[in-house]
Amino acid sequence: MPYRGRFAPSPTGPLHFGSLIAATASYLQAHAMQGEWLVRMEDLDTPRTVPGAADHILHTLEHYGFEWHGPVIYQSQRQEAYEAALAQLKEQGAIYGCGCSRKEIADSGHHGIDGVVYPGTCRDGLAPGKSARAWRIRVGDQTIRFEDEIQGPQAQRLANDIGDFVLKRADGLFAYQLAVVVDDGWQGITHVLRGADLLDSTPRQIFLQQVLQLPRPGYAHVPVATNAAGEKLSKQTLAPALEWQHASEQLWQVLQFLQQSPPDALRQAPLAELWAWAREHWRLQAIPRTRHIPHPI
Ligand code: GLU
Repeated sequence: MPYRGRFAPSPTGPLHFGSLIAATASYLQAHAMQGEWLVRMEDLDTPRTVPGAADHILHTLEHYGFEWHGPVIYQSQRQEAYEAALAQLKEQGAIYGCGCSRKEIADSGHHGIDGVVYPGTCRDGLAPGKSARAWRIRVGDQTIRFEDEIQGPQAQRLANDIGDFVLKRADGLFAYQLAVVVDDGWQGITHVLRGADLLDSTPRQIFLQQVLQLPRPGYAHVPVATNAAGEKLSKQTLAPALEWQHASEQLWQVLQFLQQSPPDALRQAPLAELWAWAREHWRLQAIPRTRHIPHPI
């Protein structure tokens, strides 16, 4: 199958250095594999979506010289597909309605690797007087294993580390985990290359692929840039937006961050020259096997 990668930003603000790392790495790897590179807007979490941010992200990508294959897909327009997946899971008996409040869960569950592990209160039916607020999937007892192309072998026992997780939230929004799996499958993505902050989400996605009978893509997670306080650069930690006038310097910094050893002479070079160098010298194996790297900004 021909290689098909993607970049899937959430339009909650402008692109910053952290998101440029994921975009650049997935783009260069797709090129190295003579594959396609798609862009998908993950504007699913409508309350967090900032008006104009999606267009701004696309203009920034264009300005930096990225070229994507086909039209950009918007998750806000894919509700029917997520509904269909949920209906399929309901029919399979894989999911159940959950009537627990946040507080009830916080009071009763133990801590896993991504918050409180749901104790399974509603798994065998809702208690009298409760109605379904959210939809959860039963995770079973198996250990999910995969080989990350950068981070190496991974294993997670969902029952212990995550618990039955939400696919449709109490506020009616579909969860990222469901949407990303449905869309990666529908778009025929063969390789997911993204930030290591999503490494812990991957077993949930592989599990969903199994239950929905979707193919499993390859996975590679690049280190995430952190600020002086050790926090991931993100909109929440107020990472500054990329400054277009310094595009070459920033792209050079990204290549340096990914340990591609770009020559100093190319620091201020025209973007086309830097891209040409990066395409020719791209080595996935050079990327360090670590989840975080501090990056001064
Ligand atoms: N939309 C997610 C984010 O911006 C990325 C999802 C993914 O690459 O799977 O963090």
